[in-house]
Amino acid sequence: MLAGHGDGMSDKGTSPLESRLKREITGDVLFDPFSRGRYATDASFYQIMPAGVVVPRSIDEALRALAIIRDDGRIVTPRGGGTSQCGQTVNDGIVVDFSKHLNRLISLDVENRTCVVEPGIVLDDLNRQLKRHGLWFPVDVSTASRATIGGMAGNNSCGGRSLRYGTMRDNTLSMDAALADGTLLHFGEVPRDFSQLNANDSGLALFRDMLALGSREAEEIADKFPKVQRRVGGYNLDALVPRNAANNLAHLLVGSEGTLAFTTKVELKLWPVIRNKVLGICHFGSFYEAMDAAQHLVKLRPIAVELVDRTMIALGRDIAMFAPVIDATVRGDPDALLIVEFAEEDQPDNLQKLRQLSELMSDLGFGWNHPQRKCGGVVDVVEPATQTAISDFRTSGLNVMMSMKQEGKPVSFVEDCAVPLPHLADYTQRLNTIFARHGTRGTMYAHASEGCLHVRPVLNLKLEKDVKAMRAIAEETFAMVREYKGSHSGEHGDGIVRSEFHETMFGPRIIADFREVKQRFDPGRVLNPGKIVDAPKMDDRSLFRYPPDYRITGLKTALDWSAYPGAGGGFQGAVEMCNNNGACRKLEGGVMCPSYRATRNEKDVTRGRANTLRLAISGQLGPDALASDAMMDTMKLCVSCKACRHECPTGVDMAKMKIEVLAARNAKHGLSLRDALVGFLPRYAPLFARLAPIANWRNKSPLLRALLERVAGISARRALPAWRRDIFKSESEVFGPADGSEVVLFADTFNRAYERENLDAALRVLVEGGYRVHLPRAADNGRPLCCGRTFLSAGMVDHARIELDRLVETYAPFASRGVPIIGLEPSCLLTLRDELVSLRSDASAKAISAQALLFEEFLVREAASGRLRLPLGRVANKALVHGHCHQKSFGAFTSVEQVLRLIPDLDVETIESSCCGMAGAFGYGADTYQTSIEMAELSLLPAVRRADAAALVVADGTSCRHQIKDGTSHSALHVARVLAMSLDSARSNPHPSPHAKETIHG
Ligand SMILES: Cc1cc2nc3c(=O)[nH]c(=O)nc-3n(C[C@H](O)[C@H](O)[C@H](O)COP(=O)(O)OP(=O)(O)OC[C@H]3O[C@@H](n4cnc5c(N)ncnc54)[C@H](O)[C@@H]3O)c2cc1C
Ligand code: SF4
Ligand code: SF4
Repeated sequence: MLAGHGDGMSDKGTSPLESRLKREITGDVLFDPFSRGRYATDASFYQIMPAGVVVPRSIDEALRALAIIRDDGRIVTPRGGGTSQCGQTVNDGIVVDFSKHLNRLISLDVENRTCVVEPGIVLDDLNRQLKRHGLWFPVDVSTASRATIGGMAGNNSCGGRSLRYGTMRDNTLSMDAALADGTLLHFGEVPRDFSQLNANDSGLALFRDMLALGSREAEEIADKFPKVQRRVGGYNLDALVPRNAANNLAHLLVGSEGTLAFTTKVELKLWPVIRNKVLGICHFGSFYEAMDAAQHLVKLRPIAVELVDRTMIALGRDIAMFAPVIDATVRGDPDALLIVEFAEEDQPDNLQKLRQLSELMSDLGFGWNHPQRKCGGVVDVVEPATQTAISDFRTSGLNVMMSMKQEGKPVSFVEDCAVPLPHLADYTQRLNTIFARHGTRGTMYAHASEGCLHVRPVLNLKLEKDVKAMRAIAEETFAMVREYKGSHSGEHGDGIVRSEFHETMFGPRIIADFREVKQRFDPGRVLNPGKIVDAPKMDDRSLFRYPPDYRITGLKTALDWSAYPGAGGGFQGAVEMCNNNGACRKLEGGVMCPSYRATRNEKDVTRGRANTLRLAISGQLGPDALASDAMMDTMKLCVSCKACRHECPTGVDMAKMKIEVLAARNAKHGLSLRDALVGFLPRYAPLFARLAPIANWRNKSPLLRALLERVAGISARRALPAWRRDIFKSESEVFGPADGSEVVLFADTFNRAYERENLDAALRVLVEGGYRVHLPRAADNGRPLCCGRTFLSAGMVDHARIELDRLVETYAPFASRGVPIIGLEPSCLLTLRDELVSLRSDASAKAISAQALLFEEFLVREAASGRLRLPLGRVANKALVHGHCHQKSFGAFTSVEQVLRLIPDLDVETIESSCCGMAGAFGYGADTYQTSIEMAELSLLPAVRRADAAALVVADGTSCRHQIKDGTSHSALHVARVLAMSLDSARSNPHPSPHAKETIHG
């Protein structure tokens, strides 16, 4: 076992603690090494294996768990989303996860703008509920999609607009919390005269002691606490000093990182939502000048001033989706931008602010025609869509930086130091000198208005020399911050990274005060010890995710991972791309991660899977962990939707990784009957089609359904797609006019065997569009061509390779002369774009990959270039469209919407859905059927049920159509069929088609 990575608790057998917890807690009690491993990390670079995890179902259960664990002599670490960057949530002992069940909005007082929440509620989730009341909670952390209020309070989190709204502390009115001994107290405003205070004796004594400490230390606190708003390090002793108003003792708990009490309720101050805002993008010819200007810009009272530097602009320009907004809003070649945001109640006031901003820039000596250093000015952004595009760019620009595929990564440890604004320019200049001295560099971004710039030097923490550099950079940076009377911990909290430095930053007397607070609240050191006080060294490598003995040996993989470094042909590097930022835990928006949205288990989220894989391949979960049952269980609910490939900020591609797990599993244990039935479907499809009446008995007979469930694990509750004798067979290898532009139509197994109408429709649309359509027979004259998808989804990589080899041999002559290869089924066609080049890296495979286009992508491209000639007529008033996950993952879904908009008078509405839950064979599994339904019921099925009966429901995925039919009895259509219907309509009612490329461009 790795040093620091375990607590000596046996992985075998059940400990008395585990047994008792299981007896008395109805929520999950997880003591197996795989589950513990998933809670051993947060978004820091540390890893400490906890002894167990409890996921309580109620606050009472959380308190019960606390009592049981304490009685057993173990320590407890409360946890929310686990997105802390400094190691706040990693510890041995037991982790208590508040995020799964304890996430209710308990009460809301709209008039007084307050609410009370359970600690596990996610910020975005809370704000969704508040929005309809015109309110929001404005501590808008970047991790709003997964950060919990309990965790935000634990870290005293700060949002980008803290200039106006303050930090978590400023917006916390009161908290209910339990001390380690179980005493439940209300922490709120406390008068210095306790006679009217409603609290039990031990509560009154604690409050009295804390206020006495505040009085005693008032001078020292005034002297040693930095006077910057972004000071989140240490305990908030300044909340205890005598003042005119009452002291709020909840503010002592805020920022205490789970070390003082278990928060059970938080009362929050709410704000009216922002109705109007504008951005002024201030351009600067030199980074130093930008930093120097920040102190002046804040005098106009913006709500945020955010920095974007030259590196980030360059990164953004290279990304197709951001290039337009950069071109539209960035003038010339600035060294840095400060994005100044105003949000006055009335828009004219915002416009006035923009005018003042321009004047100010001019007063500061900036002009568009001035020489380099003073070359600058303001670009106004008033339009909301452009504002959103700029904010997307800022966030994603950072993500691109984080997605470096090399061993060295941008590391967070001096990332959020804050200095008074007058020193910001000198501070950043000296910071760059420090980095250079230690052989590295860092990009700076974020909150210039607060003097809190995010900066991550690039380091490889697997190397001793880089760890030494990290320590040296930390020491030198913190010394500089102290010199400027700034704060070494300005946003992300202390954890293990910062706590040991408190003594140099605050001095020994304040450290003694911190210890006194801890001792008074938690004398037994039960709650998250080792944070804020008595912390280990930040560079103790035994506590690292990659400790000195971290090794990966003997890893063999089936696919090509060579874009990444490390063992297994790069598989190691791909797995290690997960930095635990938790974006895959978002509950709305995008697709990632549908299984987590259904279960809310750490096991079922991309992060949990990536962590399990990392631990498995590095031998931390025992021998053969990659092929183990527990690993299969970790992957079981991954529907291979590929959403993570697209939406994970670092591009973790779990669907591809799952193929490796399945391949390892097959190699070790052989193929299961279900996987064989799934994988070999393209091979037996022609035979089953001939025997359709017999093959379809299974659907009709409850007995056969039950039998198949028993022997092959295929759910008796699911109808299988019906076999038919008239499968798609092309009489010719070529259709359409001889002089037509050439295309290849790929007839995939699913549309060929089950829904030939789609292929017939696509063929018709292409031919009527004047294309020369090739449907070449397999070059070996054998069975129909196949993309290998079903084999890949069963981990049968060798069979997939055989099928792809045949396909490459057949299509290579077309691809080499630039003929588009068009497919209908997203998962099949996109296999040619994706996995094909992971299995073959030759020129023919690359050419086919480059030419592979979904039917609608091809048509949109043709329409945009003015080549599409299709007489289209009305088909319906409304089309409700569901995107296949792989379409979304490859950015191909908008083509469906665009092509449907070519149809006259059709109102196209997209269903805000994640995965349909069917996902190939996933929805058919007896063990996954229920989750499949839950995924579909999250948004897709309710939206279809709500739809007008006359509306068309459009879905390009075979599985999606099947799920929709099963769940709603609506028959969804492939877009090819809608277009064919539109051709029919135009023919029977000939009017000029309004379809035009303007629609595409517009
Ligand atoms: C990419 C990225 C961007 C970030 N951006 C920001 C940002 O803009 N602003 C910012 O402030 N932070 C930011 N962070 C840090 C982090 O996301 C925030 O601090 C966040 O608020 C933590 O919430 P969480 O639910 O993940 O808490 P966790 O990490 O789970 O926990 C945080 C602390 O709270 C304690 N805690 C949790 N629940 C309880 C409870 N019920 N009782 C007592 N203690 C509890 C934990 O023990 C821990 O010490 C960022 C992190 C990442 C990875
Ligand atoms: S899988 Fe991606 S999104 Fe999820 S935690 Fe890891 S890096 Fe973040
Ligand atoms: S492929 Fe889909 S289900 Fe699997 S981890 Fe990624 S987002 Fe989640």
